Amino acid sequence: MTSKTTPQATSQTTPQATSLAGHRHKPTRVEDRGRLAVDLARAVRGEVRFDRGSQALYANDASVFRQVPIGVVIPRDADDVLAALAVCRDHDVPVLARGCGTGLAGQSVNAAVVFDFSKYMHQIVSLDAKTRTARVQPGVICDQLRGAAAEHGLTFSVDPATHDRCTLGGMIGNNSCGTHSVMGGKTVDNVLELDVVTYDGTRMTVGPTSPQEYERIVAGGGRQAEIYQALKALAERYEPLIRDKFPEVPRRVSGYNLPDLLPDKEFNLARALTGTESTCVLVLEAKVRLLPDPPHHALLVVGYADAAAAADHVPALLQTQGLIGLIECVTDEHEPPYPAKITKDQVKKLTSALREGTPNRRRIALQMVRDLLDESSFDASPAHAVPGPVARTAAKVAGKLHGDDH
Ligand SMILES: Cc1cc2nc3c(=O)[nH]c(=O)nc-3n(C[C@H](O)[C@H](O)[C@H](O)COP(=O)(O)OP(=O)(O)OC[C@H]3O[C@@H](n4cnc5c(N)ncnc54)[C@H](O)[C@@H]3O)c2cc1C
Repeated sequence: MTSKTTPQATSQTTPQATSLAGHRHKPTRVEDRGRLAVDLARAVRGEVRFDRGSQALYANDASVFRQVPIGVVIPRDADDVLAALAVCRDHDVPVLARGCGTGLAGQSVNAAVVFDFSKYMHQIVSLDAKTRTARVQPGVICDQLRGAAAEHGLTFSVDPATHDRCTLGGMIGNNSCGTHSVMGGKTVDNVLELDVVTYDGTRMTVGPTSPQEYERIVAGGGRQAEIYQALKALAERYEPLIRDKFPEVPRRVSGYNLPDLLPDKEFNLARALTGTESTCVLVLEAKVRLLPDPPHHALLVVGYADAAAAADHVPALLQTQGLIGLIECVTDEHEPPYPAKITKDQVKKLTSALREGTPNRRRIALQMVRDLLDESSFDASPAHAVPGPVARTAAKVAGKLHGDDH
């Protein structure tokens, strides 16, 4: 794919979208897209892709959502990001960061200019074994960092199932967790400092802020001071609610990390911005914590009668000395989650789902009948099954099984 391509019209307008800090943008018209692409191509050294193929490529992530982007910028470095951002601002268009697009809830797609950090901005800037820290660009892949750390007997302990492809930027965006989060917590627990830029172009290095540091920033004036003061005011105003309502659960990754703005959390903007899914800032670089990697690993596979029994055992397992990870359970047999006997009412609901349901509901109802009958030969797959005969068959079979009840 060539860089700096000229746009092709795909639709009359892209829908209105919000981007960093909730700013609402006007819908982008086709002719505006053309000018935008030309201006971006002039401003950045990296790639600008506004062709249909690229739009299609970036319209999906690992979720069920689909949002066609306005276009794609693939920056070569932080200067490129700042330059592209300035153009987007001039055109009043929203922006969205993207790593490898493995987000499961639509975080990595939007009707926006997508900044793909994975192609060029993937350098491990430095790795200091003594202080057990690393500085990384946002496009660094999780396993790339883990591999480099392993050479020093260290590891980056957060490893989502997608660790061989997900980026540090995406992990910071999502506040990702992983098997070894038992050992080292979530991404937020391993982020020490972030180099970020806001939509208005304010570039800041953020982390824990001592009272002296806060005063220094405020005295310095400008946009950074305004942002810090506004966040401080927000934290002070809502402190009782934040303390009361944010649950202290180990894997809370939804919502903004407002507790990290409280004084006892050192007014830590790096932590507060982790998990913001590129709604507040674009991350340009991160300083992260590394942990000693245990020299020997052993995997223990434990079998349970069902998921509930496995869940009940988790608190006891967590007490195990040396435990560094827990993997979610996998079941071998297809266990019907329904009772062995069903009531008249349930049969009625099933029958009506089979007769009048959407193809998907019919498919699910058929699957339930099959599970109840435990008869693998019963054809539960046809999404286009004729409702009448299917319903009659299902009711007949269910009736035969549970004759006394119905
Ligand atoms: C099969 C499968 C298994 C998974 N298992 C896990 C798991 O075990 N644990 C887990 O936590 N997640 C899991 N995920 C979700 C996902 O893989 C992780 O959250 C991953 O860290 C996302 O990385 P990414 O590079 O693909 O990010 P993307 O999907 O590209 O982006 C994720 C978010 O981060 C933002 N972002 C990306 N780069 C930046 C940047 N530079 N600045 C600001 N924001 C940015 C994006 O805008 C988006 O909101 C899984 C997903 C799949 C498909």
